[in-house]
Amino acid sequence: MTQEPSYLIPTYARQDIHFVKGLGASLWDQTGQEYLDAVAGVAVTNLGHAHPEIAQVISEQAHLLVHTSNLYDIPWQEKLAAKLCQLANMAQVFFTNSGAEANEAALKLARLQGHKRAIKQPQIVVMRNSFHGRTLATLAATDNPSIQQGFAPLVEGFIRLPYNDFAAIEALKTNPNIVAVLLEPVQGEGGVHLVDTTYLQQLRQLCDQQHWLLMLDEVQTGIGRTGKWFACQHAQVVPDVMTLAKGLGNGFPIGACLVQGQATQLFAQGSHASTFGGNPLACRVAYSVLEIIQRDHVLENSAVLGRYLLEQLQQKLALNPHVKAIRGIGMMLGIELNTNAKHLVARALTEQHLLINVTRDNTIRLLPALILTKHQVEQIIQRLCALLNSL
Ligand SMILES: *Cc1c(COP(=O)(O)O)cnc(C)c1O
Repeated sequence: MTQEPSYLIPTYARQDIHFVKGLGASLWDQTGQEYLDAVAGVAVTNLGHAHPEIAQVISEQAHLLVHTSNLYDIPWQEKLAAKLCQLANMAQVFFTNSGAEANEAALKLARLQGHKRAIKQPQIVVMRNSFHGRTLATLAATDNPSIQQGFAPLVEGFIRLPYNDFAAIEALKTNPNIVAVLLEPVQGEGGVHLVDTTYLQQLRQLCDQQHWLLMLDEVQTGIGRTGKWFACQHAQVVPDVMTLAKGLGNGFPIGACLVQGQATQLFAQGSHASTFGGNPLACRVAYSVLEIIQRDHVLENSAVLGRYLLEQLQQKLALNPHVKAIRGIGMMLGIELNTNAKHLVARALTEQHLLINVTRDNTIRLLPALILTKHQVEQIIQRLCALLNSL
């Protein structure tokens, strides 16, 4: 641990290491030691670090125009919105700078939907074990006491239900105040829990019947993470509202709130705004990210190598007494242990030169770049098994 006093507000428990460069799924520290990155900046650098074409686009656009504000037309914003809508089957986009901001936009839409229907106290259904961000509204939608601790009074208007429990939400049909349902198609921070396909399809039908907005937080699962553009596409479900961020800019900050159907009639001129959101630089970078994913068949790689990684880990760790469950989809995997796993982050780093993440104390989460090679997948398997077999 560093002994010098820091001028940073100590909100993070950081590893005592810093990286000086990256390339693809590799990172190097100041001594020249190479590491294999199975976290990708928490599901952000989906195309790997220092992607040469992304670097080129950032540089080119920075020399042309970074920011003009939303007081003027921004052609790159139009272009990116059209592409996202075409890929996601959505109709319109509002651009933000982060996932929490994209979810804030979604929550505001839900409230507007309520007031439009003369519901004075609109309520939004959220799930147990959810994560939606750290702003006041999104932390209230989040189900984690340590995230809410000390921030009361919490934003009201949320009803919390168990995930994947259709009977529980069906029982709310007679509640006239409900306006929307917000959930993650795979709960990432919650420990990598997958939504049931039929549950999501049933939710879509229920929301249609009830005129509730189906709002999917795809901040972590979107942009190829699960092997399709968006995780809801595994269930052929199109939500009314979809939020994106993490992988969208490959590390360049950008978020998005996509709408279709009844959700398009809610925001009007003046109802929402962002100074930075959707600037030419962020939008051009994100547009390139989407083009590269298409051109380089990145979704296929995420799906195929992700499944291989999952199957190999399930096979090789089947007899490990500390492993309780291994689950995931695409390049989003969780290894749940029957013991606390937090100390393994540092051990993986120093002993295996491997970056891993641990969530909910006992679940190792792997979120590698989607452009991993087979050799890098084998390396992750080998190093992770060595670590877990030494417990
Ligand atoms: C990371 C994340 C967020 C928050 O995104 P920020 O960019 O950190 O605000 C919201 N929802 C989900 C599902 C996430 O994984």
